[in-house]
Amino acid sequence: MKLLLATRNRHKLTEMQQMLEGTGWQVVLFSDLEDTPDVEEDGATFEENARKKARGAARHAGLWTLAEDAGLEVDALGGEPGVLSARYCGEGASDADRMRKVLDRIVAVPDERRTARFRCVICLVDPAGNETCFEGRCEGRISHHARGSSGFGYDPIFMPEGQALTFGELGQSVKSRISHRARAMRQVIAFLQSRVGLDGQTQQPQKPE
Ligand code: IMP
Repeated sequence: MKLLLATRNRHKLTEMQQMLEGTGWQVVLFSDLEDTPDVEEDGATFEENARKKARGAARHAGLWTLAEDAGLEVDALGGEPGVLSARYCGEGASDADRMRKVLDRIVAVPDERRTARFRCVICLVDPAGNETCFEGRCEGRISHHARGSSGFGYDPIFMPEGQALTFGELGQSVKSRISHRARAMRQVIAFLQSRVGLDGQTQQPQKPE
């Protein structure tokens, strides 16, 4: 059975592809399809954006489709950058610019109040158009400086709970076990296996009412 991963972010693709290895699902990428729709991420929540991305792609491809939206919430910034994580410094800014903005805005905040979390909402759409969402969270703290070069986005300034190292330093194998995306993907895989079976053949999705 085919599963479309509706994201153009190659880091997210790699992470999700790794997690789907051995499940029996045949991964289809946006780059395998023609004329894929571009979706504006203008939702007020991660879920709204994930649903919008997954719905548009599923309609286009007619396949089981998965899309996600994710970001960093910093408590000392009232949850910012949140859904604006990708656009925190406006168009054309780099990951380094965005991390610098977060660090500068909490420069005087002591360690115990530098709490933060990554959140990821994955929306799965079946070929009949039924949508189901899953959320994964990874709690942690913001470091004082960017450290390490593994991962992407805000990884070099995020220390997951119980760690003195950032995701940038911990490397992909640790991140793939404990990240927000890994936690959401584990729920997706369990759902797919319960609904469709490991071989992707056992049940047909129902048309929505
Ligand atoms: P989007 O979900 O493609 O809109 O991206 C949201 C933004 O959140 C990304 O561009 C990154 O800056 C950030 N982000 C999302 N997931 C991660 C992650 O796993 N590590 C670091 N940053 C992330």
